Amino acid sequence: MHFDLPADLADLQSRLLTFISEEIDPITDGADPESPTAELRREIARRSDQAGFYQLAVPESDGGLGGGPRTMTAAREALGLSGNPFASRVLGSGPGIMRLADNDAQREGLYLPVMRGERTAAFAFTEALRSDGQREPTQAVRSKLEDGSNGFKVTGAKGFVTGGASSDWLVVVANVPDEGTALLVVDREAEGVTEGKLGASIDGSTHSPFTFDAVPVPESRLLGAVGDGLPRAMQNIDSMRLGVAADCVGWSRWVTRTTLKRIEGPHRSGQPLAEQQQVQAIFADMVADTFAARTALYQAAEAREADEPTAGTQVATAKWLASECLHRTVDRAIQLHGAQALLRGHPLERLYRTSRSLRIAEGPTELLRLTVARHVRQNGIEAL
Ligand SMILES: Cc1cc2nc3c(=O)[nH]c(=O)nc-3n(C[C@H](O)[C@H](O)[C@H](O)COP(=O)(O)OP(=O)(O)OC[C@H]3O[C@@H](n4cnc5c(N)ncnc54)[C@H](O)[C@@H]3O)c2cc1C
Repeated sequence: MHFDLPADLADLQSRLLTFISEEIDPITDGADPESPTAELRREIARRSDQAGFYQLAVPESDGGLGGGPRTMTAAREALGLSGNPFASRVLGSGPGIMRLADNDAQREGLYLPVMRGERTAAFAFTEALRSDGQREPTQAVRSKLEDGSNGFKVTGAKGFVTGGASSDWLVVVANVPDEGTALLVVDREAEGVTEGKLGASIDGSTHSPFTFDAVPVPESRLLGAVGDGLPRAMQNIDSMRLGVAADCVGWSRWVTRTTLKRIEGPHRSGQPLAEQQQVQAIFADMVADTFAARTALYQAAEAREADEPTAGTQVATAKWLASECLHRTVDRAIQLHGAQALLRGHPLERLYRTSRSLRIAEGPTELLRLTVARHVRQNGIEAL
């Protein structure tokens, strides 16, 4: 599978892969990727910082390396390709949803504390069905707050907020009656916020549901303007989709490589499995699937870097293809590895759970297909 990356990206990938094999593999060998110790996490971050990778996602204006969509895509693909389940910890966090803070006060009060790691923010986007059966989307009603200032009262329910249980702030997408959607930064511990039961997904991530009962939110906590909440939330989702697609392609390549070793190695039948035509066909499906997803991924990354009008559709397509590709690739790899790959803790068993969740997270495949169909119907086949 050969696809020449531009020299700068190829160099970044090669440096990352060398760093992981020389500096991260030795310290993570035998550790449990689903519950790393704080000490191990710190040591990975320290080594990565020293090697000049940790701040890749941090904007240059904040002392980071300012990696754009194509750089971050290449980096995340390389982390997946390394096969080290701790590799994602090599990159420190970028601004995430807080990149949408766009005035000086919000930069000082919200964005910088997140970038310095002093505060955390979770993204409360998915509407939840409330216990009273109420289905109205979360509302933010313009109100005078207790101190006489202008603000909003937020009422509604959100589900599946990743990291919500340990975050300081919830960035809530809410509807302001007659005006449109808004993004509001709500204190998780504010009066009127109720946190539901923490849920743990099969991929190891944890999520919380929240209900909001007339939660007062000052106007200074509005990110952007009322009316552009949803488009801004979608910008954030778009960036996460591209990252997920890159992870999936990197992992698919690692899985394909690992499976090649397996089928070419000795087998108890006396003949390597790769001699069997059916095995070759399954393996060829893995290679071709990954090739197609990877090609779409880099096309989408370039489109996003250049801010092309079709970038969102390309990113949605890449996320759809890459997450489905990973799931099929891991499933085929498990088939070719046999029972050993089903044992808890086997890397393919873990990736199988991860890949299952990525077909739903950041937009289920069916919704991405709708997005693509809608966009192409409106803009013609050139839209992709
Ligand atoms: C690992 C993970 C992390 C997440 N983190 C967050 C987070 O931090 N913040 C947050 O707000 N949310 C988060 N979510 C929630 C995620 O955004 C939702 O799971 C996703 O949008 C789907 O919504 P739902 O689960 O309510 O499924 P539903 O909307 O009920 O859909 C269920 C299924 O129905 C089908 N379907 C739905 N609508 C259509 C349609 N119009 N046409 C055809 N088929 C359709 C799809 O197959 C879909 O998978 C996370 C989810 C996962 C898995």
